[in-house]
Amino acid sequence: MPLLCLGFTPIFMKTKSLWLSIFVLSALTASAKSKDYLLACWQKQAGPLNNKSLLLHYQEKKNELEHSFEPWQQTNYTGKGIVWSNAANFIKSDTLARGQRTYYSITQWNESTLLFLDYGDKDLFAVTKGMFEDQVFAGARYSPIALVDYFVKQKAGVEKESDKELVVYKLTINKTIVKLFIRKSDHLLHKVTTLGNDELFGDVLTTYVYKNYKAINNLSYPALVEIEKINGKVKDEVVIPAVSIVTELPALLNKPANYKFKDEVAPKPEIKVEKYSDNIHFIELKHTDDKVMVVEFNDFLLAAEAPLNSMNGELIINEAKKIAPNKPIKYFVFSHYHPHYTGGMRPFVHKGATVFSTKADVPYLQYLASAPHTLEPDSLQLHPKPLQIEEINESKTVTDGKFEMKIFFIGNKSQHTNDYLIYYFPSEQLLFEGDLVWIARQGEIKKAGTRQAGLYNAMKELGLNVKTIIQSWPVKDYGVKTVIPFADLEQSMK
Ligand SMILES: [Zn+2]
Repeated sequence: MPLLCLGFTPIFMKTKSLWLSIFVLSALTASAKSKDYLLACWQKQAGPLNNKSLLLHYQEKKNELEHSFEPWQQTNYTGKGIVWSNAANFIKSDTLARGQRTYYSITQWNESTLLFLDYGDKDLFAVTKGMFEDQVFAGARYSPIALVDYFVKQKAGVEKESDKELVVYKLTINKTIVKLFIRKSDHLLHKVTTLGNDELFGDVLTTYVYKNYKAINNLSYPALVEIEKINGKVKDEVVIPAVSIVTELPALLNKPANYKFKDEVAPKPEIKVEKYSDNIHFIELKHTDDKVMVVEFNDFLLAAEAPLNSMNGELIINEAKKIAPNKPIKYFVFSHYHPHYTGGMRPFVHKGATVFSTKADVPYLQYLASAPHTLEPDSLQLHPKPLQIEEINESKTVTDGKFEMKIFFIGNKSQHTNDYLIYYFPSEQLLFEGDLVWIARQGEIKKAGTRQAGLYNAMKELGLNVKTIIQSWPVKDYGVKTVIPFADLEQSMK
């Protein structure tokens, strides 16, 4: 390309000095290109395999954000497994352990197929084309061979952010921006970053740093991979104490005769609005299996719970507008920090609603509200607004002078999270809560579990006069009641 430019540019050149500067610039580009660090890396980390495979035994520390008691609390797993890796294949058989429990999974990927047996499953996972495409970088957690090869084949270009020490190459794979950072000094891959969208956290960066390089038959491989997930909030580690080079690949899973990718269909929003009383409205989001609440006061609205992502927050705001077109949503409140209650908060911040929160959750809400969403922008990303918070200690009464809603902090009495809030309407003898009651729709009422007993005890302590409990999640799934007579809860405590 620089040569072509040189051939054409003189026709349009007016001065010699400009012509000279273009020439110098082109020559510089050519010299930068003359060193192909990506190919040099491939020659060290993939090329020497020569159609054979690297067999590696690894141990890992894997930490996950699950439905814990407080934000950023991690569930820790230890794992071990075997990986067969080359340019066109990634096969993994592994176990993950936590306490007494052990989970088992198999991944089998090649250039046209991804077979995946998930932890705890008996049948193959229904893999989408996107998952298949993502596997080329997902496998880099253990071995970057296939990813380096993919970058060479795709002729990835050098990025401007390259510096004295590292040359950066970038590709967008499926919806994720993947970068390789190759060391100029020894041509080894220093790290890989992937930037993807998470519906709760927005732009999420994962980093794999490759360390303790060793060699086998001229093939360089990292014996330690340090991983940072969710913008560095969660850290994992993969240690590879032993490798060998093998000629055969195992077939751990059989490809079904009718193998094809599952269609990627985004869940179609389906909404049902129910007027419970003059002041209380419930909005059921069937596509997320949640029921959220809009409380109508004299000249404002309060919304409680917004599941999973900003799109759902917008849907709720839209329905609230239909309920009371001239009343602003003054307050947003969530029962606890789990994604089914906070995931759709950002559009409420964009609308200028004040968020009720326990003191302990404030930093988490600040994180959610300020997290960049550049890959899939929502209203708050496009038009940033400050997060307004009002802290709740023991309780809070929201009223317009006539109608009254009480919010109570029950915290870890919920036996579910440390931040738990419940909502009580004295005039309706109604309690609305997140996910604490698990009474089957059919059959006899079983003895209360810890969460359910926790709610009952907290209600008794507060001396609430309740006839009916309405629960936010789940609505259809798990076969449990969402409208629960208080008598049922009492029965479960006997
Ligand atoms: Zn929960």
